Amino acid sequence: MKTCDLFSKKTVFSFEVFPPKKEIPVETVYPTLEKLSGLHPDFISVTCGAGGKGGNLTVEVASKIKSLNCETAAHLPCINLDKDEVLDTLQKLREHRIENILALRGDKTPGIEPKCVFPHASDLIAFIRQQTGDEFNIIGACYPEGHPNSKTLAEDIDHLKIKVDAGASELITQLFFDNRDFYNFLDKSTQAGIRVPIEAGIMPVTNKKQIERMVTLCGATLPLKFQKILTRYGHDNTALRDAGIAYAIDQIVDLLANGVDGVHIYTMNNPYVATRIADAIRTLL
Ligand code: FAD
Repeated sequence: MKTCDLFSKKTVFSFEVFPPKKEIPVETVYPTLEKLSGLHPDFISVTCGAGGKGGNLTVEVASKIKSLNCETAAHLPCINLDKDEVLDTLQKLREHRIENILALRGDKTPGIEPKCVFPHASDLIAFIRQQTGDEFNIIGACYPEGHPNSKTLAEDIDHLKIKVDAGASELITQLFFDNRDFYNFLDKSTQAGIRVPIEAGIMPVTNKKQIERMVTLCGATLPLKFQKILTRYGHDNTALRDAGIAYAIDQIVDLLANGVDGVHIYTMNNPYVATRIADAIRTLL
């Protein structure tokens, strides 16, 4: 099923997972997938390291999710891929009946010179559409606070419009901690003529190291309310986990009350956290 068809029927609720590292057997992630699919999300997306050749492990994990009667989307970063490698990945996805692709540029991997065949995600999306028509549903990434490579949010949204015009049928946001950033982004995207559904990406923060790494990587702003939680509970893992879950639920309730198209949870492969959130918001979807 193409996930873009869900938005006209309901508020979409989805998860993100990552495959295990290459040296670890893929089966180790199966119990996590079983628990997450048991929460009945609308789909589970599977990340893909930009340094790989189109993500065999991603396809394997996505295929397992499908076998659990749960819809899935495979991430596909293109920075290190040429056209043949993209076509190979599309063929693998086809063989595994995976219809949804989160098409990404990805980031430079240390020690690997980018191929630059697809300089932007929009180039990958245009290529997939040109090669396969409507066979795949293509999802794009977007950034409520602007992508770090863009000088301004307005410039980034102009580029996002190119991505949508190239064939992205839905968007998922980078994580954010202040819903006002998301609403501002939605307004500006609408003004720019972007009409596809936009799912809000929410990361429940459960430990201090994780949040420090994430903020460095993606540049998300930490509101004062959130900083106070880190200061007060940062030394106590259980308290910080519970406060992080409560903060995420609070964000989601506000988003749902404001009619968000969907909520995508960055689960970090943690079924406990995903379960607490799913249980708290199920009746609100
Ligand atoms: P792009 O859309 O290409 O944008 C990158 C920059 O180029 C932006 O500044 C944009 O404004 C600009 N730009 C875009 N199009 C044009 C254009 N046509 N002309 C000029 N400038 C343009 N990374 C992974 O490696 N693996 C993953 O699985 C993964 N999953 C992700 C999932 C989500 C929901 C998100 C939000 C991000 C994910 N990332 C992942 C991270 C992502 O790869 C990085 O954020 C990367 O830096 C940008 O990818 P993009 O597809 O948004 O790039």
